[in-house]
Amino acid sequence: MNGIDEAVRLESLTKTYGTGAGAVTALRDVQLSFHKGTFTAVMGPSGSGKSTLLHCAAGLDRPSSGRVFIDGTDTTGLGETRLTRLRRESVGFVFQSFNLLPSLTASQNVALPARLAGRAPDQRAVERALSRVGLEHNADRRPGELSGGQQQRVAVARALVTRPAVLFADEPTGALDLATGRELLHTLRELVDSPPDDTHVTVLMVTHDPLAASYADRVLFLADGRPAGELTTPTPEAVAARMTALAVAPC
Ligand code: ADP
Ligand code: MG
Repeated sequence: MNGIDEAVRLESLTKTYGTGAGAVTALRDVQLSFHKGTFTAVMGPSGSGKSTLLHCAAGLDRPSSGRVFIDGTDTTGLGETRLTRLRRESVGFVFQSFNLLPSLTASQNVALPARLAGRAPDQRAVERALSRVGLEHNADRRPGELSGGQQQRVAVARALVTRPAVLFADEPTGALDLATGRELLHTLRELVDSPPDDTHVTVLMVTHDPLAASYADRVLFLADGRPAGELTTPTPEAVAARMTALAVAPC
């Protein structure tokens, strides 16, 4: 059932924040599977549960009920230590804000997660990650010496350095202008399409932008915490039309 081709599998995933009268159910009985080597965009109105879905699927947050499999491992019963290790080794995360340390070079920023985990950074892996996002010539620059798009690509390299099974990105182009946003999407597309060896990068990206979503293989729509249809080989026009329909008739 838990095929080796699956990077992430969500079974009956439900997430409720808070308790009693103030409780908010952000995800309701979500059943989804994400195959290795694919690029999925998650779209939906504000508050539909996109970020919650990403956080639960990445093991950053625990579901209220249901199961999350990451790279074949059921994370449900894992203690904090094993979950932390799985998160470090199998998952990469990129946010809208780049979250780079301004005093460190690109290379040092990419090496930081290993340092924080108390390990000596693998310099070859750092160089490989930077070169996969086209920044091999900028390794010694600090964030202030890089464009916004380059800074976000450093964040992608940092997320890739452990060769994670899945790269999660929550509005990664949200702080970028159109041109650099497209460059970043092109980089994400290439990571999925041209693995250098046997590393299958799988991307799950939340976005508001139909053009960004059109870079994905599949667009998954969420409404009110539930999947509300999907598109494969999406065009920006088809994605925009679905989003308009969801906004007019939320379920
Ligand atoms: P989206 O990313 O699609 O905008 P979210 O996943 O952030 O949606 O939020 C889904 C719902 O859960 C919203 O109603 C939001 O207010 C609520 N929510 C999200 N995070 C929390 C939290 N930490 N505590 C309470 N409610 C939350
Ligand atoms: Mg969100």
